[in-house]
Amino acid sequence: MKDNAMSHETTLANLGLSAAELTGGTLKVTSPIDGRLLAELPETPASDMPSIIARAASAFKAWRVVPAPRRGELIRLLGEELRAAKDDLGALVSWEAGKITSEGLGEVQEMIDICDFAVGQSRQLYGLTIASERPGHRMMETWHPAGPVGVITAFNFPVAVWSWNTALALICGDPVIWKPSEKTPLTALACQKIFERALARFGDAPEGLNQVLIGGADLGRALAASEEVPVISATGSTRMGRAVAPVVAERFGKCILELCGNNAMIVGPSADLEMAVRAIVFSAVGTAGQRCTSLRRLIAHTSVKDELVARLKKAYAGLPIGDPQADGTLVGPLVDEDAGEAMTAALEAARAEGGTVHGGARVTEGVPAGGVYMAPAIAVMPAQTGTVKTETFAPILYVLGYDSFEEAVALQNDVPQGLSSCVFTLNMREAEAFLSAAGSDCGIANVNVGPSGAEIGGAFGGEKETGGGRESGSDAWKAYMRRQTNTVNYSAELPLAQGVKFDI
Ligand code: NAD
Repeated sequence: MKDNAMSHETTLANLGLSAAELTGGTLKVTSPIDGRLLAELPETPASDMPSIIARAASAFKAWRVVPAPRRGELIRLLGEELRAAKDDLGALVSWEAGKITSEGLGEVQEMIDICDFAVGQSRQLYGLTIASERPGHRMMETWHPAGPVGVITAFNFPVAVWSWNTALALICGDPVIWKPSEKTPLTALACQKIFERALARFGDAPEGLNQVLIGGADLGRALAASEEVPVISATGSTRMGRAVAPVVAERFGKCILELCGNNAMIVGPSADLEMAVRAIVFSAVGTAGQRCTSLRRLIAHTSVKDELVARLKKAYAGLPIGDPQADGTLVGPLVDEDAGEAMTAALEAARAEGGTVHGGARVTEGVPAGGVYMAPAIAVMPAQTGTVKTETFAPILYVLGYDSFEEAVALQNDVPQGLSSCVFTLNMREAEAFLSAAGSDCGIANVNVGPSGAEIGGAFGGEKETGGGRESGSDAWKAYMRRQTNTVNYSAELPLAQGVKFDI
């Protein structure tokens, strides 16, 4: 019996989605919780793409000249509407992506946080002033809106990633065309309803500031190929990034790529093991291992490795696995059967490579029928094999040992991905070395903080096969604008730069 769940029909109705909008279409949306059919959605015909893109282009012409703090007002209202809808949208994230209730709500909180951030940012789209080498001249840098932004998102953060992009794109003056995952289109439609409520209160925004595309990869491909969409922000697998990036580069568009992660924790001999165990369990099994920042590799000093594995096995044995909407559950379902099969195949490969696997079996007792529930696995590996270097989007924690800190950092960096990383140590030299130029090569590097679960104030993203994009806080807003260098001559002379003479 669920302790805290509303029916999905009530949740959808509360979010303003009517039965008529959710039936009769070709895209079947099922819940990872128990496989129930949530909706049959009409898909966006590919033939509609030119008019959708044209609507965004025309919205851009109007929106780019609205003062940025006024654009920020729309995002302030969006933040208010998200606060009002938090419980329902969080519940829908749980129904559609299978997250536990607290993580569904956390995802919506992240949306509220980025709205707050973007409202402030709307008054801080600063450029530099630059010293000119010519007398009577002034130089400066101005930031202008870039144009419509295509946002392609993955199933595992079905709404937060949209908000990271959209809150910033809109305050920067850019309309958004959103292609959510075909596995999670309902949360996207719910966000559109919430956005429409903010628009109605705002009053005079142009039409087409945020448009949602319902369907598969073809719609994403059309966005990537369109010259009228100068910025493509794409979150998902490296396979998807490899397909999208060359298409955008071919037309000299800009990409913000947020792709695979294979995140590690180094645990040094001085580490607080109690803290490390808590951080490992949350980072490795939270969201059933389906975060891009999930902990996948534990690199433990040989003096603490066995004790750590013993403690982890004990913690894993008591993990409540089951219905993500029931009170107390910590591990919900994987997104679908393919994900379960990928986990089983990865564990088989790890065994074949000499690994010792604890856990990892399918759970069928005490969980809703129709969902894919897997016991999180710990795989103690003899070396960093091909399987360890591959992201499997499931709760598998590979454990490796090390003797010297240099060896640990080399192992941490010796994978194709470069998203998130951390070290648990009380040794200042190790901590600082990990953060130094010769340390972690990832976009995110933490000390005594797990790799999973970032705050929106920092720039989020990673290097190598993670794609190099940055979203969310810090100066990530610059990716949604074009930079212009201006030189103003207020003298009565016309000197040339570098002292060039060209008298006529
Ligand atoms: P996916 O790559 O299968 O799909 C992601 C999105 O890309 C979907 O909307 C899909 O329709 C679209 N798509 C797929 N092929 C495309 C193509 N050729 N052209 C245009 N669009 C295309 O990923 P997924 O299974 O939904 O999500 C899991 C993956 O996402 C994991 O690898 C995870 O690490 C990654 N991820 C990364 C981040 C990050 O910030 N780095 C965040 C969340 C998820």
